[in-house]
Parts: sequence; C-alpha cells; structure tokens
Amino acid sequence: MNTALKQYIQEVFGITVTQAKQLDGYDNSNYLIVADNTNYIFKTYGYTTALFDLVQAENEALLHVAKSLNTKSPQPLKAKNGAYATRMPAENGDKICRLLTYVDGSFLGDVTHTEPLITAFGTFLAKLDVELQLVNNYTIQSRSWPWDIKCFELNKAYMEAIPLAKDRHVVLYFFQQFEAMVRPHFPELRQQIIHNDANEWNVLVTEHAVSGIIDFGDIAQSFLINEVAVALTYVCYDKEDPLRWASVFLKAYHKVLPLKPLEIELLYYLIAARLCISVCNSAYAKQENPTNTYASVSEVSAWGMLYRWLAIGPIKATNSFKEAVGFELTTLLPIDKVITRRHQHISSILSMSYDTPIYMERSAFQYMYANDGTTFLDAYNNIPHVGHSHPKVVAAGQQQMAILNTNTRYLYDNLASYAERLLSKFPPSLNKVFFVNSGSAASDLAIRMAKFHTGKSHVMVVEQGYHGNTQTSIDISDYKFNNPKGQGQKPYILKTALPDAYKGKYAGDNDTIGASYASDALNDMEPFKNNVAAFIAEPIVGCAGQVPLADGYLKAVYPAIRKQGGVCISDEVQTGFGRLGNYFWGYEMHGVIPDMVVLGKPIANGHPMGAVVCTDEIAASFEKGVEFFSSFGGNPVSCAIAEAVLEVIEEEELQQNAKETGDYYASLFRDLMHKYPCIGDVRGAGLFLGIEIVKDGTKLPNTDLAHLIKNELKGLHVLISTDGQFDNVLKTKPALCFTKANAKRVVDTIDRVLKAYYEHL
Ligand code: PMP
Repeated sequence: MNTALKQYIQEVFGITVTQAKQLDGYDNSNYLIVADNTNYIFKTYGYTTALFDLVQAENEALLHVAKSLNTKSPQPLKAKNGAYATRMPAENGDKICRLLTYVDGSFLGDVTHTEPLITAFGTFLAKLDVELQLVNNYTIQSRSWPWDIKCFELNKAYMEAIPLAKDRHVVLYFFQQFEAMVRPHFPELRQQIIHNDANEWNVLVTEHAVSGIIDFGDIAQSFLINEVAVALTYVCYDKEDPLRWASVFLKAYHKVLPLKPLEIELLYYLIAARLCISVCNSAYAKQENPTNTYASVSEVSAWGMLYRWLAIGPIKATNSFKEAVGFELTTLLPIDKVITRRHQHISSILSMSYDTPIYMERSAFQYMYANDGTTFLDAYNNIPHVGHSHPKVVAAGQQQMAILNTNTRYLYDNLASYAERLLSKFPPSLNKVFFVNSGSAASDLAIRMAKFHTGKSHVMVVEQGYHGNTQTSIDISDYKFNNPKGQGQKPYILKTALPDAYKGKYAGDNDTIGASYASDALNDMEPFKNNVAAFIAEPIVGCAGQVPLADGYLKAVYPAIRKQGGVCISDEVQTGFGRLGNYFWGYEMHGVIPDMVVLGKPIANGHPMGAVVCTDEIAASFEKGVEFFSSFGGNPVSCAIAEAVLEVIEEEELQQNAKETGDYYASLFRDLMHKYPCIGDVRGAGLFLGIEIVKDGTKLPNTDLAHLIKNELKGLHVLISTDGQFDNVLKTKPALCFTKANAKRVVDTIDRVLKAYYEHL
C-alpha cells in the first residue's frame, strides 16, 4: 500500500495504518490493514457514478444484515464525514474507497466438507436470504451484469475467449438450453436481493459451523433460486458425486426457506449457467490479462463439473433435487401404455430397440436422457455425428429457418457455398453434387444416374449390404431382399460374396484375400459382362457386422467394372465424414476413387438430408434426361445445418478424435478379446467398430450372448447394438465427440458383464 493511500485513510477515516497487505480481487484492489491492533478491510474501486451508487447500496444491505442476523459479515465503517463510501481524487483516476470490519474464520474452501457442515451452510444461506427479502434498493434492482444468472446472455460476449471449440460448444449448448428451458419461465420466478456469490472463498467457518459470509460485491436483485444455484455450483464442483452434496444443501435450505417446484425444475440449468458464467469470465480475464490468476481460481473445477453435469443430465439431477426437498417426481405413463398408444396408428413393422424400449426425452453430445431419469452413454448412434443436439448445428438450423427456407428453383447462397465446402473434401474428379433427403433417396438416385449414364441395366452388389428403404435401394440391399421375409433377388441384381477376411471363404491373415474375393466377383460378373451399370458397396459393411472389405478387393473390382462400361459407387452413409479416423471417406482406406458417392445420416447430424456426389461426366449424362427436382433436397435450412456439421468437424478436430479415441477403444476391445474366448474378432476403423461374439474359441456366432451383452449394457446405462447375418456382432459407432474415458467405460462395462456371465456359466 502506498504512502498516499495510507495518508488518505488517516485523514478521511481517522485510523493509522501500521500494516497492510494486498488481497486477491477480481477487478478491484482490496487490502487487509492493521490499525490500532485491529484488522480492517479497505477496498478501492475505479470511480464511476454508477459504481459509487452500487457500493453505497451494498453498504446498506450490509448494515441491514448486520443488524438483523446473528452472523458475521463485514460492517461498513463511517468516514469522518459520516459517509460509508468516499471518493478519493487520484492522478490516474479517482477511486471509490470504503473501510470494512474484518471478519475472521476459516474459509469453507479450506476445510473438509462434511454433511453437517453443508447442512449448516444451507441453513445459513436460507436465513440470510430471508433477511435480504427485507432489503429494497433501487440501485441493486436496476443492476444488470454478467455475474447475475438472470443476465446470463451477457456472457456470450466472453465465450469466444474460450480456446477450445469443444469447450466453447458445451457452453453454447447450455446457453441454448437456458433459452429453451429457463427464459420462458422468467415471469413466474420470484425475485429478491441475493448475495449471489456464496462460493467457498466467501463463506466462513468457525468450529465446524458456518459463521459468516463476506464479499457482497456481486449482490443482485435476481431470482431467489439463483442464490441456491450459485451456492450449489461451488458446493458441488469439486465433488465426485455432486448430486449427493446438492441434496444435503437443498434439504437444509428448503427447511428454512421453502423452494417452489418450478425453482427446483430449473435448477439444473441454472447451475449449468453459473458454471458457464465462471468459465466464460475466466477465459475472458485470462485473455485480457494472462497474469491475473485469481480470475481463474475456479476454472479447472468449473470445467470438470460442466462435463460431469452433461454426464448426469437434467432429468436425473432434477429428480434428485425433488427427492431432496420432498417433492413428488413426475408421474410417468407405464411404458406398455406408451407402446399401445404408438401402435394405435404406427405399424409394428417399425421395430423398437430392446425388449423394453427406452422413452427418450432429451440428449446432449454423447448422452441421451430417458424420461425416467436414466442417462445413457450413447456408444451406438452415429447419425448425431458431431454430438446430440450440437448447439452449433441447432443454431444454424434455427437461424436459417427463421430467415428463408425454399427450394432449389430459386437462387440462394448456401446451396453453392455448402456444395463448394463439401466437394473440397473430395478429389477433383468428384465435383458435382445432387441433394436429396435421405441415404435411401441418395442410393436410389445414384443407381438411376448410373443406369442413365451407362445405358446398362444390371447392378452388382455385395452380400449383406444395405443401402436404403426405397424400392431400388431395397433391390440393391441383400440384407433386405435376402431376408426370409424379403422380396428376393431381382433379375437385374448381381450379388457377389462379402469379402470378409474373418470368416468368409478366404478368411485368414493373408494379403491375397482381397484379390481372391475380387477374382470370384469378376467370375460372377462374367455372364453379365458389358451389362453392369454399377457396382455399389460400403467400405466397411455395417449391416454385415462392421465387416471391412478385404484389402485389395476394391482395387481389383473397380477397374473391372469400369472396363466393361460400369461405374463404381461407394456408399459412405455410415463411414463418411471422418468417422474412420485415418480417412475422411471410407473409400480412401481401400486406395480407390469411386465415380459416385452416396451420403446420408451424419451429413446433417440428424436433420434429414442425403446427397449423391459424382463426376462431371455422370452429371452431364444425367442432364440430358428429364429435370431432376427434389422439393426439399438442398434447401437453405439443410445446407446451413450441413455446413455447420463440416465446420464443427474441423473446429473440434473430430476426425483426429475419431482416430485417437477409436484406436484406444479398439485396443481396449483387443485386450478384452484376449481375456474372453467369446470375442472372436475386433474390427473396423476409428469410431466404427464391430466386436464379433462367438461360441468360445470358435467362429460360430453366439447371438444369445451378444444380445445378453447388449441388454445388460442397457441396464448399466450404455447404448450399443448388434448386427450382422447372425446378429452376433456388437456394433459401436458413437458421436465423434466420444472420449477415451467414455470408451473405457463401455469396455469396462462389457468386462463386468462378461465376468458375471462366465461366473454363472
Ligand atoms: N446406406 C447405408 C450404408 C445405410 O446404413 C443406410 C441407413 N441405415 C442407408 C443407406 C439409408 O439411409 P436412410 O435411412 O437415411 O434412408
């Protein structure tokens, strides 16, 4: 503390400073001073009239609290002129000054948290809020600032300072949820003056009891429940089991100051908002002043809790809060009633996953939230490619839908801009794109174009392939037409064996396998030679049980197809957009370039969209026919969404994550394969894996065990599926935001299931 300041304190407050120590502060300067053997806190702030009013308002609140509550809180001390705050002239800008009593005690952040202590904290804060209900102050009421959850949106400006896109998008997700779930209820929420910063460094503990609270600098007229949200944020953010600690606090608070059902309903999102405020401000403060470490004291814990909060989910958290305060949980319709209702008008030919289907209510990134409060780790659904409800994708759709949605017969920019961006991901020979609304429509169109271009009629397909649900795409899908209930193989279809290196005709670890299968395929083609319009295959055949086409197969088949005048189509509906890690498109894995590519599912993260990418020549031929028009294909909303998907893949480096997490995930499965004889094969690439479940030590399918694993995993809150000719292959293809910790959880859970299975054999 400089001499001028000491002199000022002497002159204006009438005390002689004998010792002074600067304390950490967010954006003001605070000192612990000693005068006449008494400790005081001296605070200074850059002068503005608005802040001067606010400091005075805060003083009023402090005086009220001190009068009415038997707790310790700082007391403003009068200057000699009778004012509780003064304006100090200074060369580099005037300062606001105030002197406060010093409150002793340990910080809540420095002591071990126990249930009785957190109970005491809940009781303490509720009593404080009861008292603050009596404070009425216009300056505080008119305060609008980023640390008030009510003004959450003011923090959006700081979001850009968060360095990692993936972190930024978690924050953006909670901004969006706040708008959808909380803001509509603003008018119904009760407001009052709240302390608004009951964090562990502002709450004091003496002899295992909460004895006081300091730093009323964040005081706000806000929703009462925001006081609870702030306190819970800091009670929970460093805890393994935040819901348990939240319950302890809530029970105590609710006993003194009963909360309302709506307040409890919104609490999950309000806590998330406070966490976001914290990380936004830390990031911004760091960006502005990298040496200010105080501004980011909470950062690590806040990020940890934000990610844990996603993994807990809103429904489970809300149920836990309700139980804590004794509110009834929402009554759920029994699942059989939900199914009966569905079947009144929806055919049972639309199957449902699991013996008892799951009623899904919400989702976020790699998590799905069921209505009963179960949060599932989704290791299966690949359509939300960049994550369920990804906020950037949602925002792109919402914004474009509000501006313009029309069809390709008008001009608008994002049809061309998205086409450019998409085609930049392909080699130069693939430079035309046709947009439709599903993978099926894309397969269908691709076959139509191939026939038109080549003037040929036959289509060569791979055993167990699946390409969609239109008549043509069923015709080319052995998985469907060859089903016992299927339509059978049409005369124009030429089917060839699945080049399966694990259990097909040429299985084994030998680099001629692909060539051997290719040679058989060419033999199959012989009778139809010169009449094959197209060959279509997936690079890794999903419905066959994630079977990669054997190495070298496409390299031999593609030229032969072309030689007799046909075109080669790669169905990338499952394998495209970076999922395979090393490759953006699956065909790259086979060292070939197709003439046409079919896209769907991940292209727009769940928004219905498909596309056919092809060469100039194929497009030119097609142009000679009747007009091609799809009412919805390539509409501005779809293009905006799909463009956001590509942006997110790049910003979050998701292809790289698919590689790193996918390699790790596969390595964990391989370790498991060495442990359990029922795992016959682990295959695939990136985050597109298949685990073949067999009768111990054989290659015979063990469908029952695969189903048991799938169902047990559901019970342990992990979503995975089975597929393949015998439905004995575990299929995992999660959103590309899947983490190594998620991968470990899935494999550890399967380990647990198999351990129990072998113990009970
Ligand atoms: N091709 C492949 C490889 C697929 O997996 C699918 C869908 N499972 C389709 C095409 C059809 O896509 P959609 O369901 O969007 O019509």
